[in-house]
Amino acid sequence: MSTSTQPQNKEGWSLIPVLCFIRKPGDTLRCTLAAGHDSDHLHAYTHTSWPPRSGEKQAD
Ligand SMILES: [Zn+2]
Repeated sequence: MSTSTQPQNKEGWSLIPVLCFIRKPGDTLRCTLAAGHDSDHLHAYTHTSWPPRSGEKQAD
């Protein structure tokens, strides 16, 4: 997956993206991908990825 264009409103400024923000089990990293992504979670700064779990929530 490469970068995609940001959605913009009619005034031309980018909408604030909503992050997945799921926490990695046993760690403090949080997913930085867009909410609702269907790939593994990914922390962009450390390039750490982990598989999603069923029933996980953002506020844990
Ligand atoms: Zn995620």
